[in-house]
Amino acid sequence: MQLLDGKLISQEILHEIAHEVQLLKNAGQRVPHLAAILVGNDGASETYVASKVKHCTQVGFESTLVRLSANITENELLEKVEQFNNDDSIDGFIVQLPLPKHIDEHKITLAIAPHKDVDGFHPMNVGKLALGLPTFVSATPNGIMELLKRYKIETAGKHCVVLGRSNIVGSPMSILMSKNTNPGNCTVTICHSKTQNLKEFTLTADILIVAIGKPEFVTADMVKEGAVVIDVGIHRIPDSSKKSGFKLIGDVKFDEVASKSSYITPVPGGVGLLTICSLLMNTLKAGKSFHN
Ligand code: NAP
Repeated sequence: MQLLDGKLISQEILHEIAHEVQLLKNAGQRVPHLAAILVGNDGASETYVASKVKHCTQVGFESTLVRLSANITENELLEKVEQFNNDDSIDGFIVQLPLPKHIDEHKITLAIAPHKDVDGFHPMNVGKLALGLPTFVSATPNGIMELLKRYKIETAGKHCVVLGRSNIVGSPMSILMSKNTNPGNCTVTICHSKTQNLKEFTLTADILIVAIGKPEFVTADMVKEGAVVIDVGIHRIPDSSKKSGFKLIGDVKFDEVASKSSYITPVPGGVGLLTICSLLMNTLKAGKSFHN
């Protein structure tokens, strides 16, 4: 078994982005600027956004964080989105999800200008992804593709089983793995909560990508010997032995699945770090296209 080390690969990518930023500076151009809108005080969202801002600083990007009250109206948020759409100093921005219940997430996503949608959630960018056109690929699937590419994992002709069909992970992941690309060229099966006899599918997976949001759901008896296992899940569970009072686990029961797999991502230290890198890669792309 070999670990797919998200920490190692993310450091490599951050280093490459920082180098590109330096080249932009040397050419007298402004550095890429990522903005984030955070609505309310959701603990996990606070952590994710803080990490995004920290990584922007690390690679030399400019970043802006706008905090809005959980009581903001949908129209007020739409106005903020419009303001960012029209602000030429911002290359890309995100509205951190989830949003409070009274705000329609779909409406907000639609309002973001597609050329600034570095999360890759806008239907225009999702459509381009489906057609295999250049676009902002949503961050987590893009990060997984980077991991597979940089570890030179052979994917062509393999059976890839994706557990989960969410718009931000499972669905785009299944599209990417089926494309005539490298990584890609897989025969893809996508499973969801209505899939019957799930184990029959997972046991035939050469590459198993798990994004279902259920702690340690995938156990060793569900995995084929030698499979590549990508664990997208991330869960905080109480752990009094930790200073923070919690530890992170994934959707895969790592200890027992690791010994059966050829490659596996750990949680933490796997997919999560690549997700942030992908967001920065998209922002760099947006920044460069501004100058071109
Ligand atoms: P989601 O929107 O809740 O989607 C979960 C998917 O899993 C749904 O398609 C659901 O099926 C399916 N599912 C649920 N139970 C199942 C079961 N027993 N068997 C088969 N399929 C099942 O979740 P998500 O946003 O994709 O996120 C999934 C996990 O990844 C979460 O733990 C999340 O925190 C994590 N995540 C991590 C990152 C990262 O950067 N590491 C990024 C995004 C998400 P239905 O469609 O039928 O409901």
